[in-house]
Amino acid sequence: MRLVLLGPPGAGKGTQAYKLSQILAIPQLSTGDMLRAAVSEGNAIGRQAAEIMQRGELVPDRLVVGLIADRIARPDAARGFILDGFPRTVAQAQSLDDVLDVHELNCVLELKVDEQHLLDRILGRAMQARESGEAVRADDNQEALSVRLTAYANQTRPLTDYYAAKGLLRTIDASLPIDRVTAALIDAVEGLDGKASATIE
Ligand code: ADP
Repeated sequence: MRLVLLGPPGAGKGTQAYKLSQILAIPQLSTGDMLRAAVSEGNAIGRQAAEIMQRGELVPDRLVVGLIADRIARPDAARGFILDGFPRTVAQAQSLDDVLDVHELNCVLELKVDEQHLLDRILGRAMQARESGEAVRADDNQEALSVRLTAYANQTRPLTDYYAAKGLLRTIDASLPIDRVTAALIDAVEGLDGKASATIE
């Protein structure tokens, strides 16, 4: 099963990708996590990405395409994967089509949430982290968030048309409680390649 999770910041892509990866027993491939790891390692990719990410802008396509192509080639992704945060531009989607070649995608799941909900979730997450002494993401502040939302609207939302035209898009109401969103996602992918399990713990 090869899935893409699409949605604005705060829509719950990371949470849902993790849950789906457990239920479907396929890895969650998050470009955000990979880039944050590169930034904390201080490697060449991290050094190029750090400031861009902090501002809330998208890092150059060539950086993430390279990361994801290497990751998809690893053995644990052979049975399938959930892409979380990639592709984010039409150019990235076209590169993904080249990388996947014969494997193809089974489905693109769009998590839809209205903007006020997104702001509340992200600023709430930052406040909770601060209160419990955990690290707050460098881009979880009002200023970077508004840049991230604009990047989503201008650069990423056009992907819904790209994938709708291929008949791959399924849109899910992601303003519902976490477990109901997971159930809706499982419903949407069930039977796509005959391997999805309907069991939700
Ligand atoms: P969110 O969806 O909440 O904004 P992510 O963890 O997916 O969070 O991404 C965080 C940041 O990492 C983005 O704002 C961007 O700077 C960078 N990033 C992640 N994935 C991509 C991508 N596919 N293309 C370009 N930049 C990316």
